Amino acid sequence: MLDPVAFARELGLPGLFDVHTHFLPPQVMAKVREQFDTAGPLIGRPWPLEYRGPDEELVDTLRSFGVRRFSALSYAHRPDMAEWLNDWAFGFADRVPAALRCATFYPEPGAGAYVAARITAGAQVFKLHVQVGGFDVRDSLLDQAWGVLEDAGTPVVLHAGSGPVGTAYTGPEPVAGLLAEHPRLALVIAHAGAPEYAEFLALAEKYERVMLDTTMAFTPFFDGLGAPYPRVLLSRLGALKDKVLLGSDFPNIPYPYATQLEGLANLELGDDWLRAVCWENGSSLFR
Ligand SMILES: [Zn+2]
Repeated sequence: MLDPVAFARELGLPGLFDVHTHFLPPQVMAKVREQFDTAGPLIGRPWPLEYRGPDEELVDTLRSFGVRRFSALSYAHRPDMAEWLNDWAFGFADRVPAALRCATFYPEPGAGAYVAARITAGAQVFKLHVQVGGFDVRDSLLDQAWGVLEDAGTPVVLHAGSGPVGTAYTGPEPVAGLLAEHPRLALVIAHAGAPEYAEFLALAEKYERVMLDTTMAFTPFFDGLGAPYPRVLLSRLGALKDKVLLGSDFPNIPYPYATQLEGLANLELGDDWLRAVCWENGSSLFR
């Protein structure tokens, strides 16, 4: 098993920058773990979590892997929840300086206003989860928020691919529609768009500020879900070096953290690509 600290050191990096990790209010995290533990409807398969424990312990674990910057992504599944999550996430960023200041939003009246206020208050990245949220990214209640985010250039980590369980709202089509309306959005497509890898890769190629995160992609577990990353796309993924960001889904992963890094190294896209993905791109995006 690869040693994450040695991996970063051998690449000459000061550490790892993981744009896709989850820290949540304890009662929400308990519910999320219950979903994974019981292979609930949004999971659909056994998912034995490798990491659990209180936040301080999980932050120490990340640090022990050489992860120097990371996110604390949360997302709402109903109205009147996002701002409560945002209050918690801002408090987390105050307590944990290595964490990005994260926020989320939901199709509801006032979304544009609170997104604008959170950006003013220092939000560095937003997260949206189309599958869990159960909405279309083109919902008119989101339009003002998208406009604000487009003007500010604040990145949005967007889980819109149909993995692990597709819904009427997942897939590349709604996102393509959103980008046609808001072409300057800085979207970070979570899980490299799994399983619609090709379509989301094409969106990242087409739109200047659309990026991909690596979350769970290229791991044996994810490949085993029936959507291995198509080898035929690898040269284009290599060419997209400046727009791919390390993401892991820590702590909600059913394998050791190093597995994500091994998956990236096994792509054999070169050390420059690994350096860009594992540190440089995150640190320039969130400078
Ligand atoms: Zn995630």
